[in-house]
Amino acid sequence: MILTNEINNKKRPFLIAGPCSVESEEQVVSVCNDIKVQTNASVLRGGIWKPRTRPNSFEGVGAIGLPWLVKAGKQTGLPVTTEVANAKHVELALKAGINILWVGARTTVNPFAVQEIADAVKGTNVPIMIKNPVNPDLMLWIGAFERFQKAGITDLTAIHRGFSIYNHPKYRNVPNWEIPIALKEKLPNVHLICDPSHISGKRNGLLPVSQKAMDLNFDGLMIETHPNPDDAWSDAKQQVTPLGLKNILDSLVLRKEELTGDSITKMEVMREKIAGLDDKIFELLTARMRLSEEVGIYKRQHDITILQQEHWKKVISYRLSKTEDYKLTDKFVRDFMDALHQESIRHQNNVMNPDLK
Ligand code: PEP
Ligand code: MN
Repeated sequence: MILTNEINNKKRPFLIAGPCSVESEEQVVSVCNDIKVQTNASVLRGGIWKPRTRPNSFEGVGAIGLPWLVKAGKQTGLPVTTEVANAKHVELALKAGINILWVGARTTVNPFAVQEIADAVKGTNVPIMIKNPVNPDLMLWIGAFERFQKAGITDLTAIHRGFSIYNHPKYRNVPNWEIPIALKEKLPNVHLICDPSHISGKRNGLLPVSQKAMDLNFDGLMIETHPNPDDAWSDAKQQVTPLGLKNILDSLVLRKEELTGDSITKMEVMREKIAGLDDKIFELLTARMRLSEEVGIYKRQHDITILQQEHWKKVISYRLSKTEDYKLTDKFVRDFMDALHQESIRHQNNVMNPDLK
């Protein structure tokens, strides 16, 4: 099969579902049959070798589970996928008849491991899905794509599963949506699948993350699905039943990317208003930097340093005290003021040290 063609041909969201871990033949076969009944899933997933944080957790049933997953695929008529982390996994998975392989987040971080897997699939035409690395490093993610491309593998798909963070109140792995968006800019032909299970880490976070992914034009979703989620041997909190999965899919609002009919002119009017405001913002920024240069000239003439720490602290805390009036987040105001300050320093430096630019 060619996964990229399948994704092209199916209606959004292209759905990949199945348990975090394959636990028994009964478990994987029954949940996959239920997924088939309840949803329009296109691919079934199941973890055979599990990269767990602590060694005493369940680390997957291992190769014994491969034929169980393959059987679930045969019964439902759907392709199956599992995670591979080394050449041995690739060999065993392909021999057992697994249709699609995925590289997990803990593997994408390691170029040695990715290269080993790329070498192991060389000469096959097996579809590969590459999860983002655990750390928010776009180039490392792209590097993994390049290693497979160099091995002659062209059927490549990206899975966004969020990025590691210590103790976040909302996410198990923060989405940093700008990173998959940047991946799409660099690799426009690669399809993007979102994995809301590992991003949210909890059942009630699956719908909002899935909705956001759809609103950002992701092609598909990979959602962990288990017959009895609370009893799952791994990732119990984030798994849903096939019926739970169906409910999430039914609640998703699928909006269209293209503008049609009336909305073309309506959107144009609103966008022009916004562009008009953006023009004003940039005119103000230009005027603002002209004043910074005046300040820079004065500081040069009177031998005063560019950075005035105490003054800057006051400026920042004044703006941060007004974020509610502005209806902006503290983070946005902080980031915006920092960017403004950096640019202002650059302008002052240009006039203060014209020869050292
Ligand atoms: C998984 O999909 O079960 C998994 C281990 O994911 P990740 O590589 O995103 O941690
Ligand atoms: Mn999992």
